[in-house]
Amino acid sequence: MDALLVATTNRGKLAEIRTILAGVPYRLVALDEIAAPDEPQETGATFAENARLKARYYAKATGLLTVAEDSGLEIDALGGAPGIQSARWNGSSYPEKFARIYAELKARGVAGSAARFVCTVALVRGARVLFEARGTVEGEIAPEPRGAHGFGYDPIFFYPRYARTLGEVDDDEKRAVSHRGEAFRALAAFLRGPG
Ligand code: IMP
Repeated sequence: MDALLVATTNRGKLAEIRTILAGVPYRLVALDEIAAPDEPQETGATFAENARLKARYYAKATGLLTVAEDSGLEIDALGGAPGIQSARWNGSSYPEKFARIYAELKARGVAGSAARFVCTVALVRGARVLFEARGTVEGEIAPEPRGAHGFGYDPIFFYPRYARTLGEVDDDEKRAVSHRGEAFRALAAFLRGPG
């Protein structure tokens, strides 16, 4: 079976992706299972550019068929921030990031905001992009962080249909509606092929 490198070092993402891609006719390989080079600088201006850049970088370095993703949280009242900066935005811990979000919303005189998670994936062999997809999930910034499931911004992302934050739902519930679920299900369909 051909190898497919899943080019992320984020354990939360990797767990979600492995489950969604279970059953594709490739052997999934994670970055920490190979002698991978250091992460590239994410210099793209969009999620799609960053996903492509990461996939091309690792495909070139390893010679493997490679999938990379870029994802993040867009908060409408903050002009789309933190967006592509989500991982690096303000401070190292998520409680610090949450505190800044609430402070910035307050400074703008709003109590909450519409928000969405975005995920783009790029599948690359050599330098060629074979497939790209984008997934989104629409929600709101919760009045306060709630729940310890998931990772990153999940505790402040209120998903109206579940009437809970994504930090309060289990893995299956999150995958069913998440941006990453949508994008990687499209990739899984592509990898399984027309048959
Ligand atoms: P990057 O794609 O490695 O640049 O980082 C994406 C960042 O967006 C993550 O480190 C999280 O901060 C955030 N993020 C992306 N997807 C999710 C999610 O499913 N839940 C919570 N936070 C997420």
